[in-house]
Amino acid sequence: MDYLIVGAGPAGLSAALESVQRGFRPVVIDNRPEPGGNIYAWLGSTCRNRRRHLGIFGPDYAKGTALLEAFDKAVSKGAITYHPLTRLWQLDRSGQFAFTGPQGTRTGQATRVLLATGAQERPMPVPGWTLPGVMGVGAAQILLKSGGALPDGPVVIVGAGPLPLLLAEQLRRLGRPVAGFIEPRGASNLLGSGSALLGAAKAPATALKGMMLLARRSAGKSRIWRRATEIRIYGDGRVQGLRFATGNGQQDIQATCVLLHDGIIPNLNPMRAASLPMSYVAEQATWHCRPQRAIQIAGDASGILGADAAIITGRMAAAEAAGAAADSADLRKLKRLRSFRRFLDAAYPPVRTARGTAADTVICRCEMIRAETLRTAARSAGTDPNALKRALRVGMGPCQGRLCAHSIADLIAADSGSAPGEIGIQSIRPPILPVSFATLAEIELRRNL
Ligand SMILES: Cc1cc2nc3c(=O)[nH]c(=O)nc-3n(C[C@H](O)[C@H](O)[C@H](O)COP(=O)(O)OP(=O)(O)OC[C@H]3O[C@@H](n4cnc5c(N)ncnc54)[C@H](O)[C@@H]3O)c2cc1C
Repeated sequence: MDYLIVGAGPAGLSAALESVQRGFRPVVIDNRPEPGGNIYAWLGSTCRNRRRHLGIFGPDYAKGTALLEAFDKAVSKGAITYHPLTRLWQLDRSGQFAFTGPQGTRTGQATRVLLATGAQERPMPVPGWTLPGVMGVGAAQILLKSGGALPDGPVVIVGAGPLPLLLAEQLRRLGRPVAGFIEPRGASNLLGSGSALLGAAKAPATALKGMMLLARRSAGKSRIWRRATEIRIYGDGRVQGLRFATGNGQQDIQATCVLLHDGIIPNLNPMRAASLPMSYVAEQATWHCRPQRAIQIAGDASGILGADAAIITGRMAAAEAAGAAADSADLRKLKRLRSFRRFLDAAYPPVRTARGTAADTVICRCEMIRAETLRTAARSAGTDPNALKRALRVGMGPCQGRLCAHSIADLIAADSGSAPGEIGIQSIRPPILPVSFATLAEIELRRNL
């Protein structure tokens, strides 16, 4: 295999198309049923079966149609091999891979692997966040794009930033306006973002869209509580409401659906599987990985810059694989998008709710390990995340740390007075996504034939 592309979001799709122009026969895998990644999720089905929703999700969503059509065309001509519902679960730096999907399991060696595996929402642990009816803002948006529905009753968003504003507008168009916004203390610093504000001027159209979304929210009927602390979600068997404190005292509001958001971060696990070098980026409170040997990275996996940048970096990765230089217009656009990102980082700093969280907050959802248990273990086993993993099994469940690794680093760093970058995150072992014993046995049987 000369080029394995993991992820069929904007970065993976544009890399695949560009690589065909440069003489490759790429294989694209993605664990979702349709190409499009997060921003263009289920766009193909929406165009075919729910065209009304194109208007609801807005022009940035519909814009992906041309990319998807070009990709579909290249797949039907046989220029690109595409495996949907197929998950990469092992990778090393030399390009040795293992993936499993409806076509079975394939292991082997790729000359080059592009990780275009995108982003995920930063987990936002608060007491009660494991109750049914609580999910991420992005998860709710993916549910809507896939044709699903949110539970009936009041929807409350906890968090700040572009994605909550966008979803609130999409819900308004769907006739389900958000009942309330709770912005945790420190989640929004639009006017105090100082020199980073200049970055907003580098992408005026995007900045204008953001201002319009903010204006729509202010003009709407949603209540907004700012600088909220001690947020606690409650309910008997499923979410019924939230309690929190503001400058005006204790609040108690009802909700049947609570959507959490503390920004988005690169989906680190595929890159950590390949042992790529990582460094902590304090302003985004996450790690960025660097490409090495056979492995390339493009799109949000290499740092959150949005869909336009993902398309550019995907194209650049394919050019680099062919030994060609990047287009200078692409490089200039990327520079402007990076300036805009600096503005967003300053305007919506990560809240990192795991810091100093209540003792009963679940941190590791797979193993149901609470903050108190982690703090006790850190006192005896030390602050090394791998020691905590051995002591408590945190990060060993089906999510392999996706939903707890950042929170553990934040919690332990806050308690021990160090920086999360010094604490680090647990090492990762294959399989990075769940695979059945039958899959592993099948590989072993093939090897022994
Ligand atoms: C939940 C969510 C919703 C978002 N919604 C919007 C939005 O509405 N508007 C907007 O401007 N931005 C949105 N974003 C930001 C968005 O990430 C980028 O704008 C853009 O989609 C990034 O493109 P990408 O190609 O880098 O990655 P993505 O679009 O994230 O695509 C990555 C793809 O890789 C797949 N993948 C990951 N790991 C594996 C694996 N191990 N094996 C196989 N496949 C794998 C994923 O399923 C996904 O399809 C959203 C982000 C998230 C996390």
